[in-house]
Amino acid sequence: MKASAELDAADPLAHLRQQFVLSAGKVYLDGNSLGPLNRKVSAHLARVTNEQWAEDLISGWNTHNWIDLPLTVGNQLAPILGARSGEVLCCDNLSINLFKCLAAALELNAPRRKILTEAHHFPTDNYIAQGLSQLLGHERCELQTALIENLDQTDLRDVAVISLSHVNFKTGELRDMQRITQQAHAAGCLIIWDLAHSAGAVDIGLGQHQVDMAVGCTYKFLNAGPGAPGFLFVAERHQHANVALQGWMGHADGFAFEEHYRPASGITRFLTGTQSVLAMAAVTAALGIFESVTLSDVRKKSLALTDHFLDHLATCNWTRNLEVLTPTEHAMRGSQVSLAMEHGYPVSQALIDRGVIVDFREPNIVRFGFSALYNQFSEAERAAQILSDILKNEWFLDPRYSQRNTVT
Ligand SMILES: *Cc1c(COP(=O)(O)O)cnc(C)c1O
Repeated sequence: MKASAELDAADPLAHLRQQFVLSAGKVYLDGNSLGPLNRKVSAHLARVTNEQWAEDLISGWNTHNWIDLPLTVGNQLAPILGARSGEVLCCDNLSINLFKCLAAALELNAPRRKILTEAHHFPTDNYIAQGLSQLLGHERCELQTALIENLDQTDLRDVAVISLSHVNFKTGELRDMQRITQQAHAAGCLIIWDLAHSAGAVDIGLGQHQVDMAVGCTYKFLNAGPGAPGFLFVAERHQHANVALQGWMGHADGFAFEEHYRPASGITRFLTGTQSVLAMAAVTAALGIFESVTLSDVRKKSLALTDHFLDHLATCNWTRNLEVLTPTEHAMRGSQVSLAMEHGYPVSQALIDRGVIVDFREPNIVRFGFSALYNQFSEAERAAQILSDILKNEWFLDPRYSQRNTVT
């Protein structure tokens, strides 16, 4: 194993860390839940509020092209996702975008009527599908769940659309987008990928792999801030689809105030209503960093960081027997390491108390999320070392660490 200092010195992305506000003495390993603040984001937000909003008020919609932000920010996202301009919108949140995409895909692939979702999907994805199924009724939309590893044996004949996570949020397992998308298409199904845990961390080839639709959020590895907007991708060939949420921003001529809905051509028909200009401003500024790096360099460092963390866990007596849920094979690993532990919650709190910011997922999972944009190899080593100390000294038994917060 190489020394952390040596790896940090040779890291071609090391200079990017200085763009972020990170507290000294803390190791931030929760960028898979909420990315840290990039200084360029706060500067741009200050400009948009104090200059554009304060001074130009309503005219800003035209003079600063606020009205086009969902599309212009979408076009900034497109290369990060391996998509083309005009195929991505930044708007709403992941859950709402999934609703729009599922409904559109069902209709595109009628008379098929099933949505196949993975049993271990992020809960919101399945709640949204359940709600859509209730709304449309059983004749038009039936929900079926399957384990992703059983997809090969699943009868897909009546499946209109398959909804899957690119990276599983609990285990950090990365799925083979190319193979599964081909499999879906061979069975006549459309596919919608949830990119929440891969956008900005993994080089994604939505166009190359012929993906139909995708959704994601910008507040995780894209660092656009708490509650930042989501995005959706709809391949150009599907953009004639009907959109179930018909809002005026998706109208062909919203400011004609016509009595009836006429959808815009292209991706903008997937817009609903007015988007937050301030939130969009944060996304624009946060995405700037991706203009100076390639996703393949980001991916390379991300794998090296998680490798380094796993190597350190393996060399230490107190951590070497922990159950690692994340696949060790690179092709199957996202940008996090998930450990299943008997005292998962109190261990996560003991880590946070000692400056290693991680999170916890039911029932017993501690997640260590690594971002190639700012994490260092020495931080991976330090996190493993502190975890080892906590287990060795049983610091997790402190009753303070068993009190649950609302957001874990
Ligand atoms: C974080 C996350 C979401 C969150 O959806 P929102 O609508 O942004 O709250 C959805 N799916 C996955 C897989 C996630 O990890």
